Order: sequence, then structure tokens, then C-alpha cells
Amino acid sequence: MVKYIETEAKSVLYRHKFLDNWFWVRYAINAYRGCQFACNYCDATTEKYLVHKDYKDFSRIIYVKKNVPKVLEKEIKKFKPDVVSLSGVTDPYQPAEREYELTRKILEILAKNRFPVHIGTKSDLVLKDMDILKDISEKTWCTVSFTIITFNKKILPLLEPFAPSPERRLKAIAKLNKEGIQAGVNFIPIVPYLLDGRENIEEVIKRSSEHAKYILIGSGMTLRSNQRIRFLELLSNNFPELVEKYEDLYKNNMNPKKNYMLGLNKLAFKFCRKYGIKNFIKPPRFEIYSAQKTLIPREDYERTNRDLANHLLLIAFFKEFKSGNMYSAWNYHKAAENIGNLGESIKTRHKKDDLKSIPGVGETISKVIGDFLEKGTSKMLESEMNLS
Ligand code: SF4
Repeated sequence: MVKYIETEAKSVLYRHKFLDNWFWVRYAINAYRGCQFACNYCDATTEKYLVHKDYKDFSRIIYVKKNVPKVLEKEIKKFKPDVVSLSGVTDPYQPAEREYELTRKILEILAKNRFPVHIGTKSDLVLKDMDILKDISEKTWCTVSFTIITFNKKILPLLEPFAPSPERRLKAIAKLNKEGIQAGVNFIPIVPYLLDGRENIEEVIKRSSEHAKYILIGSGMTLRSNQRIRFLELLSNNFPELVEKYEDLYKNNMNPKKNYMLGLNKLAFKFCRKYGIKNFIKPPRFEIYSAQKTLIPREDYERTNRDLANHLLLIAFFKEFKSGNMYSAWNYHKAAENIGNLGESIKTRHKKDDLKSIPGVGETISKVIGDFLEKGTSKMLESEMNLS
């Protein structure tokens, strides 16, 4: 039996220090804490995110921040429009949403204030908000990512016991895309030794490619603190022969061995090519409006600076995918953030031959910038996008 506890939030819109290069999000809002879908690999049960006293209550007690819309109405005026994630540590379309409709109310406020949106979910309940999502897509940018990790009916109930079926998720993806709302798949996580076989990887990518605009590949399932305890317990009870293999794959680390992740990335990338689906989300472009809802006649340079920052972040995405190391392109993140906040045109800096004074920009990134300003793309991105 799931219990809802209504709470009040003091602040609701969290700003990330760095722009994310998977979903392009700058802000996060979580109206619910805890999640009824109770996935056994869920990393929101780690101490870092948990608000529950006992991690076992994560899916039994859902904290509902009832005043989120009211607080957001006030708070949003202080922030510059950028992509908001509605799914940091919980599913915004878990069953509680039927009763409370907080996600819908948040979307209404974001639409009114012209903030773009990324939604991550496992539920086709999102279709109830298609009208607002369409409005946001038309005004700025919106994408909905559905997690699909397998269609295997024997394994799925163990991993995602209460989530809607992947077939329902695929149908929702098709409907959203048909309505002009970008929707794709998060193949995250690829669960070691249960779902990392060639057949599963090919099936998920092939079936996704029939409806989705993109598929993101998550080969590095984390195992930490409560999440680790919970998952190893599941293995011990159902697949005891895998416990030792996991211990060897992870040792004391949070992620599997690098070579293991790289092998999966390569294989998945091959199937993405075969079935003609992108393994990334194209960076968003959207007009910026002021908090007073009037179009800000932004300085011309802001658009170019932001496009360049996104370009650098996309290069970082591929470098990280290729190396299996999320810190392998840190200078690209740093440079992108500083260029996004530059306060003057990157073209002026380039003309003055003064790019290297921007933190994160060295010789290589300077060349990428020069290339981008000349052609709107770069040789670096073209080569990084190719994994073979
Ligand atoms: S749907 Fe997401 S947040 Fe909810 S339990 Fe599953 S992994 Fe965790």
C-alpha cells in the first residue's frame, strides 16, 4: 500500500552549475519525492538524493510537494529561460500524478513563461498533457524521453515491477512524435549480464528506431550505497550465480569496468547505424523571452555563443561515449559554460585572437571554435561522431 504525505517546499527550481549534454537541461524540478514504479536499479535511492529515513520506503511513501506551482510562479521570474528537467530523482508521471496533477500545473507555468522542457518517464500518462507539450514545442523546445531497457517479459517484472509496459511506452512515443512533440528512448541502464546480450541490445534499438527520434545508450549502470545493497539483494535472490560476476565487474567502484562499457557502446552504436537512429539528442535552439513574457531582443552574439557552447558540449558527449569516462572532456564543459556566459561576442574574441583567455579554451578548442565560426560545424565533431 502506497502512502502519500503532503509537504511544502521552500524553493523548487534548482539550477545546475553546468549545462548537461545528454538532455540539455539547465534546471530541475521534482514535485514528488519517492517513486511508485519501484525499479530495482533506481539510483534515486542513494543517500545523495534520498529524503526518506529508510531507502525501502522510497516506493512506499511518496512525498507530494503540494505548493510547487505556487512557489514556482514566484520563483520563475528570477531565472533566465532555459531547459527544465521534470525528472531528476523521480518519475513525474508516476500514479500520484493522476491524483495531484502537479506535473501538469508545472508545465502550464513553464509554458506561460516560455521555458523549454525535458521530461524523462516510463509512463504513457504523459499523453494527458499533450496539449501543453505541443504548446511548449511550438513556442520553445520540448522533448520526452521514455526509458526502455528490454522487452523481455521474464526479466522486466523483476527490474521494473510497477511501471507500464515498454510496448505502451513505444505507442506513446509514436503518438507524441506524430503530434510534433519530439520523443525518444533512454536505453538506460543496460543491466550487466541480464540485458547486455547482443539480441537484447539489437531488439531495443531496432524497435525504438521504428518510432523514436533518438536513443540514448547508458552502458554504465551505477551501483552505489542503498542502490547497490538493493540490487545485490535482488541478484542473490534470483540470479545468485551473477553476484560474483558483478563483484568482479564493479570491484569497489560505482561503475562497471571501462572496457566493458566501451564494448557495449560500440555494439550499440553499430546497431544505431544499422537501424538509422541517432544516439544523441540534437541541442535545442529556442528564442529567449523575458520573465515578463516579452521577447528579449537578445544581442546577436548570444545566439552564436550558445550554439557554439552546445557544439562543444556535443563534442564532449561523443568523447565521453568513446572513452567510457565522463570526465574525459572536462575542458569542453568548462569552455562551453564560459562561452555561454561570456557577455560579448565570441566572434570579437576570435578576431582579437584572444580565445585562450577564456577558461577551458586551449589550442585544440580554439581550432574547433575557428572552424565552427567559419562553417557552423567542426572537423572535431565530425570525427568524434564516428565511433568505428
Ligand atoms: S521510474 Fe525512475 S525514479 Fe521511478 S523507481 Fe524507476 S528508476 Fe526510480
